[in-house]
Amino acid sequence: MLNVAPPNPALQLRPITPLDKLPSDADVVVVGGGIVGVATAWHLAQRGLRVVVCEKGAISGEQSGRNWGWCRNTLRDPREIPLMKISMADWRDRDVFGKLETGFRTTGIIYLTGRRPDDDGDYDAWLQSIAAYGLDSHMLSRRQVSELLPGCRRVPQKGALYTPSDGCAEPGWAAPAIAADAQRQGASIHTHCAVRGLETQAGRISAVVTEQGEIRCGGAVLAAGSWSRLFAGNLGLGLPSLNVRGSVMYTRPMPGGPEVSVVGRRFGWRKRADGGYIISQADATIFDIVPDCFKLFGAYAPTLAKSLKQLRLRLGSRFIEELKTPGRWSLDERSPFEEVRSADPAPSAFVLSQAASNLAASFPFFKEPAIEGSWGGYIDVTPDQIPIIGRSSSIDGLVFATGFSGHGFGLGPGGGRLAADIVSGATPCTDPAAFRPARFGL
Ligand SMILES: Cc1cc2nc3c(=O)[nH]c(=O)nc-3n(C[C@H](O)[C@H](O)[C@H](O)COP(=O)(O)OP(=O)(O)OC[C@H]3O[C@@H](n4cnc5c(N)ncnc54)[C@H](O)[C@@H]3O)c2cc1C
Repeated sequence: MLNVAPPNPALQLRPITPLDKLPSDADVVVVGGGIVGVATAWHLAQRGLRVVVCEKGAISGEQSGRNWGWCRNTLRDPREIPLMKISMADWRDRDVFGKLETGFRTTGIIYLTGRRPDDDGDYDAWLQSIAAYGLDSHMLSRRQVSELLPGCRRVPQKGALYTPSDGCAEPGWAAPAIAADAQRQGASIHTHCAVRGLETQAGRISAVVTEQGEIRCGGAVLAAGSWSRLFAGNLGLGLPSLNVRGSVMYTRPMPGGPEVSVVGRRFGWRKRADGGYIISQADATIFDIVPDCFKLFGAYAPTLAKSLKQLRLRLGSRFIEELKTPGRWSLDERSPFEEVRSADPAPSAFVLSQAASNLAASFPFFKEPAIEGSWGGYIDVTPDQIPIIGRSSSIDGLVFATGFSGHGFGLGPGGGRLAADIVSGATPCTDPAAFRPARFGL
């Protein structure tokens, strides 16, 4: 077995025991061992399919192990809410992931500010848009905010938005726990095993080619997160996705602090299972300018126009790195996926120090947090900021489960269930129309 170093010790990823020998045959191969890939595999294994997961680095080594850990309905796009409700049920259900050590717990989430740092909260419009879904999201008065968050110095005039049923899980634990349980059900999980591409016969998938050999199969699920666009490009498919960079830091255990997760003006937190806190800023993402930005400008122009204030544009080494990355390769040569086992971008010191000082000014409890470490992570975002889940219209047997646009940790269990329904031909757990790949010509 290959001895693979953890992608970043700060992530505290729980290891799984990968299998040594790659099977030569399978029903379905899942490309990518993030939360979406392993949740898909879990459901497929439960349904008796022979499923193989190939992960180029470590399970959860990229986005799924680097996020804040929030599992929320709050301020979610209404098109995603039915799937998110399924996800929340799966996080909790002891017959699904509720019995596993994912760290899931119900903590509630409070937004003290709007979706944008300079917006005091356009909550009424959002609350109206989700009225039909029966969520427990509601407004808190200023007095109620002070009761829930004693010591809060900056309570907005309008109060705050609160969803008591929202929660969190531990990014270092969740996908590895689901992967290990999928293994127990017969899934074959392989780390340090990059998929180079697909082979087709008469337009239908006949095999998946990995760096460790070929797996004959009739189906593949593309759950490669921020690499899905590159992978699809080698198949001649123009999957629209751009990667932005998030930054996170974490503290030592801080006894006596709040359980509830909070977003405030230019700060946010979540309490971890060890009693420490994740601290960051919502939507303060770094947008590295890369060649794809020019190719995809038209598709993203409406989103960019709305989010320019949150994005911090940077032109740096990433432009050259992506320029040098080959867009096409043959399946018998080393692919770009073998060059980067787990992307580990630098966090933004500016974003994190701004978050820490704003947090300290708003909450004396966080005046001197003992910071233990930090990390960065690429987040794959589609032009309409909702995922792509469904069958390819040009390659028979290929299913997309990607583009979770910065909120796929909470949504991952539902995304995996829906992808498994599509692969296995079961009745979809929710109407997949909003996620259909055909909206991007895929
Ligand atoms: C800083 C940050 C904060 C976030 N906060 C939250 C949050 O609080 N709540 C929330 O819901 N979401 C959050 N997100 C988003 C969330 O983490 C992602 O949407 C989600 O994890 C996506 O899961 P995935 O399985 O699609 O992708 P990933 O977890 O990125 O997994 C894809 C995997 O595919 C592998 N791979 C790629 N190409 C290949 C190949 N060719 N062969 C084999 N393997 C391959 C990669 O190595 C990777 O491990 C955050 C993300 C970041 C970075």
